[in-house]
Amino acid sequence: MHAQSGQRGGEVYRFLRDEAGARYIQFIPVVEWTGAGQGAGGHTGSPVTPRSVRPMQWGRFLVDIFDEWVRRDVGQVFVLTFDWALASWLGIESPVCIFRETCGDAVVLEHNGDLYACDHYVQPAYRLGNILETPLAELLSSERLRRFGQAKARLPQACRACHVRFACRGECPKNRLGGEGGLNYLCPGYRVFFEHIDAPMRVMAEPVRQGRPAEDIMALHSCAATRRERRIKQEEAAARPPPPGFSPR
Ligand code: SF4
Ligand code: SF4
Repeated sequence: MHAQSGQRGGEVYRFLRDEAGARYIQFIPVVEWTGAGQGAGGHTGSPVTPRSVRPMQWGRFLVDIFDEWVRRDVGQVFVLTFDWALASWLGIESPVCIFRETCGDAVVLEHNGDLYACDHYVQPAYRLGNILETPLAELLSSERLRRFGQAKARLPQACRACHVRFACRGECPKNRLGGEGGLNYLCPGYRVFFEHIDAPMRVMAEPVRQGRPAEDIMALHSCAATRRERRIKQEEAAARPPPPGFSPR
C-alpha cells in the first residue's frame, strides 16, 4: 500500500474481494527511507519518499477495510493483519515477526549462498555467512542472528508506555525512525488502528476461546451498526428546523 492507494482502502479491498476473488489478503505498507532526509522527487526534509504511505493513511486504510470486513466477511475473507491482531487479543504469540517481541527467524538466502538476517536487511552488516562455507544450521543458531532478533525488543519510552504494545510491539525495526530503538514511523496509524479494533477484537476473541466461530461478531456488528445508524437519523431529524407553518403542540 502506497501514498496513492492509501486513500482508497475500501475500494482496494472490494476490488480484491469481489473482482479478483481473493480470499487471503496481505497488505504491506511501502516505507522507503530517503537517507539524508531528501525525498526522491525533491521532497526535501521528508524522511520518506513521496510514494511512501503516510502514517495516518496506513491507519485509516486498515480501519476502513476492517469496518467492512467485520460486518460481512469474517470467516470468508482472511486479511492477515486482522488474523495476526486476533492472535494478540487471544494472548497468543503473533504468527508474524513484525508483531512479536523479538524476531530473527526470517532469514533470506541469496542465489550465491549468502545468508542474511532478514530480507529487509540484505546489507553487509547483516550477512550471517555463506552456506557453501558454513552449515546452514550453524548460521541459524549463530549469536549474531540471536542478537539481531533481540534488538527488536529495544523500544522507545513511547512504546513501553503504549496500551496497544501487546499487539504492535513497535512493529518492524526497519520502519523505526533512527533505526533500532527509535519510534516506528507508522506509529500514529498503528495506534489508531489497534485502538479502533479493540472492542470488536475482544468480542471476537471470546467465542474463539470457547471453540466457537468468530463469525458471531458479524451479527452483533450489524445490529450495532443498525442501532447507530437509527440513532444518527433520529438525531439529525431532531436537529432539522421544522417545516414552515408547523407549530408543535
Ligand atoms: S526486521 Fe522486521 S521483517 Fe525482518 S525479521 Fe525483524 S520484524 Fe521481521
Ligand atoms: S502504536 Fe506506536 S507507541 Fe504503540 S507500540 Fe506501536 S509503535 Fe509503539
